Amino acid sequence: MELIVLGSGSCIMDQTERACASYLLKYDGKSVLIDTGAGMTRKLSRIEESHQDIDAVVNTHRHPDHVSDLIPFIQNKLVESIYYSENEEDITLYGPEGHSEYVESRIAYEMNESIDSLNENNSFEIKVVEFSEGSVTNYPDLECIEAVHGGSEFPCYSLKFETDNYSIVFTGDTDFHDRLVDFCEGVDLLVADCSMPDDHKVEGHMTPSECARISSSANVDKLVLSHLYPEADNIDLRSRVKADFEGEVVVAEDLKEISL
Ligand SMILES: [Zn+2]
Ligand SMILES: [Zn+2]
Repeated sequence: MELIVLGSGSCIMDQTERACASYLLKYDGKSVLIDTGAGMTRKLSRIEESHQDIDAVVNTHRHPDHVSDLIPFIQNKLVESIYYSENEEDITLYGPEGHSEYVESRIAYEMNESIDSLNENNSFEIKVVEFSEGSVTNYPDLECIEAVHGGSEFPCYSLKFETDNYSIVFTGDTDFHDRLVDFCEGVDLLVADCSMPDDHKVEGHMTPSECARISSSANVDKLVLSHLYPEADNIDLRSRVKADFEGEVVVAEDLKEISL
């Protein structure tokens, strides 16, 4: 299992080196995008792995720093298939309740198309699958629990990918909560929302101490600190977390590869 960080930052625009949330996960012949935040497509173009192998996209929620580049990603696929006869594999877009309507409306507004018309007139098929708590239709390796992100009319989910050999959780945007600790129990890798330092706690996101607390309580093997706002970026995050967590700690950077 291999994780490539495409975007480790936040919506704050002065983070020149960090795109918004996005990760590429490769395992067992699958290639899955987790979130498609602003700037993701440019980062994807800078890695060696072919973006044409991506067969699934999973969005945790609808905030722009997690979903903005979804339609540019689809546009790229459409144009590559029409102009170059490339990138013609089917793709499934997974997201929370309302994702179908969201994708359909953006494709209609930005591309003057419907998903049906795209599927009829092109060599690949787009499927949209919505999920809620629990297992996910058509994706047996994936399980979800609702995050505690607050302040939104739409939900956010934490995601767990689990096979016989490895398990990885992406917290999505969330505050600390006890169900998340249970969800992370014994996972090999936890990619955690570490938005703000302890002295600038904001609701709906976690601090380094909270990331350490989850990882320690859940016996996580390796912790990746991500979704960093500039305030978190400016402190020694690793040392702060290592004080309360004995496992391996990685501070995410765009284009960093993390193997399991
Ligand atoms: Zn959010
Ligand atoms: Zn976010």
